[in-house]
Amino acid sequence: TPTRLDVVTLFPEYLQPLELSLIGRARQRGMLDVRVHELRTWTHDVHRTVDDSPYGGGPGMIMRPEPWGEAFDELVPEDGPRPRLIVPSPAGRPFTQRMATELAAEPWLMFACGRYEGIDQRVIDHARTRMEVTEVSLGDYVLFGGEVAVLVIVEAVARLIPGVLGNAASIVDESHSDGLLEAPMYTKPAEWRGLEVPEILLSGHHARIVRWKRDRALLRTAQERPDLLAALPSEFFDEYDRSV
Ligand code: SAM
Repeated sequence: TPTRLDVVTLFPEYLQPLELSLIGRARQRGMLDVRVHELRTWTHDVHRTVDDSPYGGGPGMIMRPEPWGEAFDELVPEDGPRPRLIVPSPAGRPFTQRMATELAAEPWLMFACGRYEGIDQRVIDHARTRMEVTEVSLGDYVLFGGEVAVLVIVEAVARLIPGVLGNAASIVDESHSDGLLEAPMYTKPAEWRGLEVPEILLSGHHARIVRWKRDRALLRTAQERPDLLAALPSEFFDEYDRSV
């Protein structure tokens, strides 16, 4: 059965990129079941109101709980299976490749896209009584809404679902899969504008090429992301010492 992804949003058009490229193709091939829902479907007044001013004062508007509650009631019937609910929020758990791997194993994910100053907290508290809820942050900055965060999360998750990506081997050595950034990569021509591809890559010495890639990955990680290097387990360096 396909992995099911439901997205509840004020702006369904924002999710149109999910019709393109590899994700679009995975949907056509029946591997992903993506359903985008407009939150205003679950309003009842003429203005289809979804927001109101914050209790306790402060700037901006907050999303009212009722439309969200009704949306979840309808999308997640009491007697059926439960999705894992992902709520993008700058106050959530940082999104990482590890979390993407965790989410790729779920049969059903539902996403709640906030707008304005965010969603009334009771929506999340109530949803937790029905399903597993994870607030997820893309990083330490603030977006206008959760839609772009959902595009990012779905893209990172979908390519880990078996069969979605054409070549599964391309996942293995990638940046962040082993705690290191990936080594730089090259293709033809061997010389371009006076710049040459590192000779070792043309040498055909498989073992030496593997070692070169590993060393360049280490160097790049040390230069760009010393925090990642510091987080590597000590066994990594034991193994490294043995191999040089
Ligand atoms: N008042 C909120 C706060 O300070 O935490 C920010 C609300 S933001 C303007 C509106 C919506 O954008 C959020 O509800 C969330 O869905 C989304 N969003 C903004 N920044 C995000 C981030 N770094 N990661 C994930 N979602 C984010």
